[in-house]
Amino acid sequence: MARIGFIGLGNMGLPMATNLVKAGHTVAGFDVIKSLPGKLAAIGGEAAQTIAAACGGADAIITMLPAGEHVREVYCAAGGVIEAAGAGALLIDCSTIDVATAREVAAAAAGRGLAMVDAPVSGGVAGAEAGTLTFMVGGSEAAFERARPVLEGMGKAMVHAGGSGNGQAAKICNNMILGVSMIVVSEAFLLAEKLGLDAQRLFDIASKSSGQCWSITSYCPVPGPVPTSPANRGYQPGFTAAMMLKDLKLAQDAARSANAATPLGAAAAELYRSFVGEGHAGEDFSAIIRFLRDTRSAVAGIGPAGSGLSPA
Ligand code: NAD
Repeated sequence: MARIGFIGLGNMGLPMATNLVKAGHTVAGFDVIKSLPGKLAAIGGEAAQTIAAACGGADAIITMLPAGEHVREVYCAAGGVIEAAGAGALLIDCSTIDVATAREVAAAAAGRGLAMVDAPVSGGVAGAEAGTLTFMVGGSEAAFERARPVLEGMGKAMVHAGGSGNGQAAKICNNMILGVSMIVVSEAFLLAEKLGLDAQRLFDIASKSSGQCWSITSYCPVPGPVPTSPANRGYQPGFTAAMMLKDLKLAQDAARSANAATPLGAAAAELYRSFVGEGHAGEDFSAIIRFLRDTRSAVAGIGPAGSGLSPA
């Protein structure tokens, strides 16, 4: 069993660290919110008062932070992970951040002889609690193999996506597919409603036809067909609209820097920006169907912001 430093004990980090404790690892947790390390200590972990204390003697150091700027600071600032990690420690960043920062921080770690992987997750808070997350891992093959036994304590699947930053690339490409597909599935169910086609019948047909996708079969945005989908509980998250917007923005930033054409990804980002801007940040992202019902605000949402689509 390993000694693990865990930094960032928020909605995802605390249940992930808890599962590592349950798996038999020794876990020292730190968060800038002073009450959070104590919660880890209460279930058998250790409360660290500083990043350096969490890193001391650790075989692996895991971070689960909000965004790229937090990751850069936690790793690269004086007293940060790269300075505090012992020789031979493996660094694992599970946050969802931009590809460029992931590569930059991994290069800084390599400059001190430390191996690092980016390992963003899918599965949300429910997956973090159940220990069923999927990890998309960027880094060397050797670092991936070293990370595997640690990640196994928190998830059910680990996929090596290639070199440094490729875990983040996989995550934002996957979530761009998800954001776009949730919108078009919502549009299809709203169109069906207007055409007098029952939602359950559309589900029965589309879930077995060429339109089949996860947004229909696992997360249907209308109440009824998929009893576990957030539509059946007033669109409580799940995965919030704010998180979806964050990932769509990361995808758009990456597309701009790579000069890749993503017109539907751009339109999806604009729709989620409008939806979140109208006060729905904390709702499940599938609640976009409610926004699309209001045709005027939905069309305004994708109009002027470079999507190439203008209000009809
Ligand atoms: P969160 O805001 O609940 O947790 C982040 C934690 O990091 C907070 O407790 C915060 O205090 C801490 N933190 C910030 N700066 C810090 C610093 N300098 N030092 C130490 N701690 C610091 O966010 P979350 O929902 O747990 O998400 C974490 C990451 O996981 C994000 O990158 C998010 O995009 C990704 N993610 C979240 C979900 C989800 O459903 N919540 C799903 C997949 C991926």
